[in-house]
Amino acid sequence: MFTDLLLDQRLLKSVDKLGFEQPTPVQQQAIPLAMAGKDLLVNAATGSGKTAAFLLPILQRMITSPGPKEGTRALVLVPTRELARQIGKECEKLASYCGLKVGVITGGQEFSVQRALLRRDPQIIIATPGRTLELVKEGTTLFTGLEVLVLDEADRLFEMGFIDDVLAIIATCNPARQTMLLSATLPAGVRRLMQVLNEPERVTVNTAREQHDSIRQQYILADDDKHKEKLLLWLLENEPFERALVFTNTRDQANHLCGVMRYRGQRAGFLHGEVKQDIRNSTTTAFRDGKINVLVASDVASRGLDVKGIDLVVNFDMARKGDDYVHRIGRTGRAGQQGLAVAFIAPNEWNLKASIERYLNVTFESRKIKELPGTYKGPKKLKASGKAAGPAKSKKKKS
Ligand code: AMP
Repeated sequence: MFTDLLLDQRLLKSVDKLGFEQPTPVQQQAIPLAMAGKDLLVNAATGSGKTAAFLLPILQRMITSPGPKEGTRALVLVPTRELARQIGKECEKLASYCGLKVGVITGGQEFSVQRALLRRDPQIIIATPGRTLELVKEGTTLFTGLEVLVLDEADRLFEMGFIDDVLAIIATCNPARQTMLLSATLPAGVRRLMQVLNEPERVTVNTAREQHDSIRQQYILADDDKHKEKLLLWLLENEPFERALVFTNTRDQANHLCGVMRYRGQRAGFLHGEVKQDIRNSTTTAFRDGKINVLVASDVASRGLDVKGIDLVVNFDMARKGDDYVHRIGRTGRAGQQGLAVAFIAPNEWNLKASIERYLNVTFESRKIKELPGTYKGPKKLKASGKAAGPAKSKKKKS
């Protein structure tokens, strides 16, 4: 029960309004520790409820201990603009009875707008590192009185090359702050960031690899991109779904596919790193509102996208790494809903598929679309000896 967590009535009211009935496992574990002022290392993936797990203790602190009249009290650093906007929204909802100001600072927006926002002195800032560092350098914002620092999706902060920026920002922060680091995976690069934690308590809920029981994971063998296009259209036309997310590894492919799907009457949009911020926002909103129901995206653009009702994820190109695959399919099957993830596997992707299966310790279900048979049938079966297996010959026992 949320009431067991000893949260302020105003927070319980907003939690109730959001329809959260029970705290999720990460919230149950992290909230009491964070409220006791501990530094935290939280090993949890998107979909676990990790955002409220760090926001609620921050808000509890803000409303129960009066801070200075001005200055940022809490800073949440995240890898992408979409994630910053999303956390900003969740924070505003959770803080709706608390009279606190929340500011979202990301790249791709006017400096003048952001300076104006900072002049209004939000107590809580949700931000991406690059722009934050620029604002720190020009002296527009100061974190010398910071009480809480959150590094969310630290594995992605690392993968996107933000570690140096993050460390430079941390160097300007109040050393007596509380720090929480959250990450779905803990690659070596994240360990550099872990050093800024002070005797952290560790919270591990089910890791990214284990959390996907509610997602059916299938693969379909494909000859080439043209064959994949046909398979994709077939799925969109025959598989019942509310919202579908299609992943490609290149921007050109995303643009092209979106065009092909629109031509075939699908309500499709695309999202990748080169799409301007305002278009990105409107595309995400259209997807959330159901104006479009197919989104073609790159890994970076989809990161942190929390749109409810994504029930089909298609890996048009297979993810290049296990963690990327986990993040991709993590968009579906959220909050206990059943989801379907389908990967198209061309001959040059078979080994990748096999290594991702080993990494996740799962075997994807093989699926065939009988209307669209291909010539690629998978690698030749290997005998234990490593030689390609031919038809079995019956050996006569020597007597
Ligand atoms: P997150 O892992 O923070 O991205 O959260 C995933 C989704 O779960 C978001 O849509 C949250 O609004 C939602 N959520 C967070 N906590 C709860 C809860 N206790 N009960 C139900 N939904 C929740």
